[in-house]
Amino acid sequence: TAIKIGLLFGGRSGEHQVSIKSARAIATALETGENQEKYQVIPFYINPHGIWLEPEKSAQILASGTADDSQCQGSKWQFPSQCQEIQVWFPILHGPNGEDGTVQGLLTLMDAPFVGSGVLGSALGMDKIAMKNAFAIAQLPQVDYIAVTRDEVFSGPCVFPKKCDHIDETLGYPCFVKPANLGSSVGIAKANTRQQLEEALDMAAQYDTRIIVEAGVKAREVECAVLGNGQAKASVVGEISYDADFYDYETKYTDGKAQLIIPAQLPQNIVNKIQEMSLKAFHALNCQGLSRVDFFYVEETGEVLINEINTLPGFTALSMYPQLWEASGVKFADLVDTLIDLALNS
Ligand code: ATP
Ligand code: MG
Ligand code: MG
Ligand code: MG
Repeated sequence: TAIKIGLLFGGRSGEHQVSIKSARAIATALETGENQEKYQVIPFYINPHGIWLEPEKSAQILASGTADDSQCQGSKWQFPSQCQEIQVWFPILHGPNGEDGTVQGLLTLMDAPFVGSGVLGSALGMDKIAMKNAFAIAQLPQVDYIAVTRDEVFSGPCVFPKKCDHIDETLGYPCFVKPANLGSSVGIAKANTRQQLEEALDMAAQYDTRIIVEAGVKAREVECAVLGNGQAKASVVGEISYDADFYDYETKYTDGKAQLIIPAQLPQNIVNKIQEMSLKAFHALNCQGLSRVDFFYVEETGEVLINEINTLPGFTALSMYPQLWEASGVKFADLVDTLIDLALNS
C-alpha cells in the first residue's frame, strides 16, 4: 500500500507564495510515474495566520495555486484529524515558522519522520548570526560581519552612533544589512554611506530583533546543492547572473530578471573547493536531507567565500536546487523520492 506523505505548505512567512509553487511541483512529482503507486499525497495548507487547513481544502489550493485567506482570520489553531494518518511529513515551507526549526520541533514531538534538517540544523541555518558563527568555528572563509540587536538600533543617542562608528571602521562601505532570520532578500539593504547604514539598520530592525551587517564583496554568485544525511553528496555548481545592484527580491521573483547558468563556467579546482565547502557547511550545522549553499566567488583572487545555507530551498521545477540535481543526473521525481527515503532511513 502507498506511503502517506503529509505535504505541509504555505506558512506564516514572506515566502508563502513561493512555498505554494514549490509544493505544487513536489505534489506533481509524487503523483506521476513510479512515485504514483508508491506514495499518496495528503496536503496540509498553512495559511498566513498559521492555521492548518484540512486536506480537501488544501488540495484545492494546491491545484489552483492561490488561496483566499480572508475568511480564516481569527480561526483557532488545531490539528486537522488527518494528521494522524501521516507516515512521512514533507514540510516545504520557506523562511521563519517553517524553515527555522519550529515546525521541525513539532514534527519531532509527534514522533513522525520528516524530510530535511531537524531542529538544530534548521535553526542554525535560518539565523544568519548563529550560522556565521558556526561557519567561523568550522574555519569556512566568509566576509567579515558584525551582529547588531534591535535594542542597539533603538537605544538612543548613546549606543547607536558608537555601534555605527564600529561598523564604519571595521567593515567600511559598501556593507549589507540583513535581518538575521529571513530569506528571499526581504529586509536586506546595501549601504554605501553612513546615512544609508543608519536607514538600513532602522529598516532591518522592523523585521527582526537580530541583525547582521556584512562587508560587501564584489563577486560572482554561485550555488551548490547538497543531498543526503551522513554520506551527503554535492551537486554540480550553478551561477546566478542578473542585471541589478544585488540579487534582491524583485530580481529573484520577476521572470527574466535573473538567469541560472548550470553548470557554472568555473575552473575545476574552484568547483572542487565549492563542493567541499558545501559539505563541510552542511555537516557543521548538523543539516540533513537537503540544503542549497550560496557562495561568492572573487574571480580576481580565486577566493571562495560562503554566504549562507538554505535548509529548505526553493523547490519549483525552475528553482536552482532541483535544477542542480537534474544537471548532476538526478531527475526531479527521483530527487523527491530520495528525500523521502532519507527521511524514513535517518
Ligand atoms: P535566499 O533567498 O537565498 O535565502 P537571503 O534573504 O537569505 O536569500 P542572502 O543570500 O544573504 O539573503 O543575500 C541576498 C543577496 O544579497 C545575495 O544573493 C547577494 O546578491 C547580496 N549580498 C548579500 N550579502 C552580500 C555581501 N556581503 N556582499 C555582496 N553582496 C551580498
Ligand atoms: Mg537565505
Ligand atoms: Mg531562503
Ligand atoms: Mg541567498
